[in-house]
Amino acid sequence: MKCISTRNIAAEVTLADALTLGLAPDGGLYVPERLPQRSLGEFHGDHSLPQVARTLLTPFFASDVLAPELEAICEAAFAVETPVHALAGPKNWLLELFHGPTAAFKDYGAAFLAHSLAALRQPDDPELTILVATSGDTGAAVGRAFHGLPGFRVAILFPHGRVSPRQAHQLGALGGNVTAYAVDGSFDDCQALAKRALQDRALKKRVPLSSANSISLGRLLPQMAYYAHAALEHTRQHHHMPGFIIPTGNLGNALACVMVRAMGLPVGDIVLATNANRTLADYFSGNNYAPRASIATLANAMDVGAPSNFERLTWVYPEASDLRNALRAEWVDDDAIGAMITRAPSTHGIVAGPHTACALVALERLRQAGNQDDWIAVATAHPAKFDSIVEPRIHRSVEVPPALAELLTRPKRVIPLPNDYGALCLALQQRGVPA
Ligand SMILES: *Cc1c(COP(=O)(O)O)cnc(C)c1O
Repeated sequence: MKCISTRNIAAEVTLADALTLGLAPDGGLYVPERLPQRSLGEFHGDHSLPQVARTLLTPFFASDVLAPELEAICEAAFAVETPVHALAGPKNWLLELFHGPTAAFKDYGAAFLAHSLAALRQPDDPELTILVATSGDTGAAVGRAFHGLPGFRVAILFPHGRVSPRQAHQLGALGGNVTAYAVDGSFDDCQALAKRALQDRALKKRVPLSSANSISLGRLLPQMAYYAHAALEHTRQHHHMPGFIIPTGNLGNALACVMVRAMGLPVGDIVLATNANRTLADYFSGNNYAPRASIATLANAMDVGAPSNFERLTWVYPEASDLRNALRAEWVDDDAIGAMITRAPSTHGIVAGPHTACALVALERLRQAGNQDDWIAVATAHPAKFDSIVEPRIHRSVEVPPALAELLTRPKRVIPLPNDYGALCLALQQRGVPA
C-alpha cells in the first residue's frame, strides 16, 4: 500500500520509504493511503499476538518490498506477550504493555521499526542515524531496539531533569551505538530540535537521518496489533466489545487504537487519559484545538502540550464533529495521580505507575457516572520504572523486572546539550561516540 502525508503536498511513497523517511518532506506525517476494512473472520484461528499482528498488517505491506519480511518482523517484534488481567472491580481489565526489554509499551513499536529498517538495509548503505526526542520511555525503547544493529546509530534527546532517575539511567546505560543527550529544555524543545533536523536537507546530506519518534509510521502501525489482539480475545471470551482507556501524551498509542476501530475491529469507546496537560481534554470538551507549552507532572512521559499525532487524528476524522463524537478525554491532576497510586493496590488489586494511574482515575470517573461497559485500562509502563514516585506512596518497594534490572547495573553516560539547533548539528556530525 502507498503512503501519503497528512498535509497532502508530498508525493505518495511506498511503505518502506515512509518507514525510512520518518517525517514527510512537506512537514506532515505519513499515513497509509486508506484504512482497509477487516472482518472478524479474517482473524479466524489467529490467537497469538504475532499472528494477529501479521493478519492485521498484511494489507499495509501488500506489494511492498517488505511484504516477504512481515511474518519474521512480527515474530521478532511481538515475541513478548501483552496479557490482559481482570482488575478487582467487575468488568474492569488491564492490558499490560510493559513486559518488553525497557518495560514500556514503546518497546513494541520500536522493535518493529528496527527490524523493518534492518531488513531494508543494503550492505553498502551509509550509516543511518536514528534521531529521537523523548519524554523518557521512547529513547530507551528505541535505543534498546537498535542497540548493536550494524549500520545504525541512535541519538536520543531528552529534557534534562525531567525524566525519572531510572529513565535517565536507562537512556545513558546502553552505550555502543546509542548516545543520550540531556537537553537544557522541555520535551517540546527536544521535539522541535528533532523535527527541524529531520527536515534539514543540508544536514541530512552529511548525516543520513531518520526518526523513530511516535511520529514514525513504523511505530504507529505495529501498536495497532496489541489493541486488535486484546479486542478480539475479549470479544471471543466475553461476547462484548471492550472500550479502552489509554494514558495519552503525544497520542501515538491511542491513535493506534483509533485506527484499529476504524478498520472495523470490535473496539467500543476510547477514552484518552491525560495528565494536567489539558490540550486534548479541552478540545474534546468543546474548545478549539489549542496546543500549548507542556507542564511537568508526575506522569512525565505524557508531559506533552502539543500532541504531534493530533494531525493524524484529523486525518482519520476530517470533520471536527465526527472527531468530537469519536473520543473522550479526561485529564487528571497530580493530586489525583498520587492518590490513585496509593490506593490502586487495595481498590484495583495492582501496583500502578503514574501513567497507568491516569487511566484508572478515568475508569473510576466512568463508573461513578454509572457507565457499565466492559473497559480495558492500559498499563503503559511497569511501575518499577517510576520507583521514586510509586514506592513512597505505597510504602514498599516494587520488584524490578529482570531486563530493566540488568540495564540499571550498567554505568551510564549522558552528554549535556544546550537547547540550540547549531549545537545539535555539531553533535550529530561528530563521527562515532567519544569514549
Ligand atoms: C510514551 C508514554 C505514554 C504516552 O504515549 P503517547 O503515545 O505519547 O500518547 C504513556 N505512558 C508511558 C509510560 C509512556 O512511556
